[in-house]
Amino acid sequence: MSPVLLGDEHGISVVDFKFFLDGSAQQEVADAILDSFKRIGFVYLVNHGIPGDKVKSMFDWSKRFFALPLEKKQLAPHPPGGTHHRGYSVPGQEKVSQHVYDDQELKGIRENAPDVKESFECGWEENAGMPNIWLPEEVLPGFREACNDFYWTCHETELQVLRAITVALGISEEHLIPHHKGHDNQLRLLHYPSVPVEDLEQERIKRIDAHSDFPSITLLLQDDVGGLEVEDPNHPGQFRSAPPVKDALVVNAGDFMMRWSNDVIRSTIHRVRAPPGMKTEDNMVPDRYSIPYFCAPEFTQVVECLPGTYSKEKPPKYAPISAKAYVMQRLSATYEP
Ligand code: CA
Repeated sequence: MSPVLLGDEHGISVVDFKFFLDGSAQQEVADAILDSFKRIGFVYLVNHGIPGDKVKSMFDWSKRFFALPLEKKQLAPHPPGGTHHRGYSVPGQEKVSQHVYDDQELKGIRENAPDVKESFECGWEENAGMPNIWLPEEVLPGFREACNDFYWTCHETELQVLRAITVALGISEEHLIPHHKGHDNQLRLLHYPSVPVEDLEQERIKRIDAHSDFPSITLLLQDDVGGLEVEDPNHPGQFRSAPPVKDALVVNAGDFMMRWSNDVIRSTIHRVRAPPGMKTEDNMVPDRYSIPYFCAPEFTQVVECLPGTYSKEKPPKYAPISAKAYVMQRLSATYEP
């Protein structure tokens, strides 16, 4: 195995991103990432550029935030409706799943068991269209600054991953980089509380039901509890475990990237289930913390299929669409009115 490709977790490549960041094997790393994206829509990156101490510190902030009493967390309430995606959501507020799409058309919404998780979301501080919703500073001093700092740290890695996609496709980075200034990204802190194993196994409750992400790419940091599962694109309905890999960032492509790449890159359905073999003495599944960072193109951008993803024989499947129109359409279907 090459030093670039470190391994494979149920078909998801584990790639050492160091050789892209230091420039020593950019093409090889880029090709390995695109190969995994084409096959399954996910890749693990180690040496991803987000410093380990910052990752640890953000998980610590997340734990401190969620450990606050409910009435404190509700001082930063996520607004009702799905278009202002900021602040704190109590367990069960979000209905992520259940969108049944056929091409671009929403075919229906399935009712399912509730997702038992709580979350906090923030975006770019200057985003007038979607302002952040913070706790009063004295409730958790330093939290706001830590989130903002982490937001822009993740943006650096986002740009490098997007660059890798352009290298692999053999196209100018002008096709992806200027579209991603970080202004419409979303940093989410997620906490799945400890629940009885049986409730998860019997599907009376869920951690997060099967869904695909909709922006360009998602960077996901997860703790070592596990439970993430990714659908086998060749066998719909069959899921494989995407276990935590030490110090690795999980990167997955979203529906928007799939459309943008004329379906060359896959956006794959995934979910979080009971972690295999993990339970406490009283048959509880441990808490799980994860930090996804959703990377969206600037809302003002209109995108059409990337060059290198279509030809005379395989014409573009999708008409140009503005990022805002696309994302808003998807967001508003995610929350209960
Ligand atoms: Ca997701």
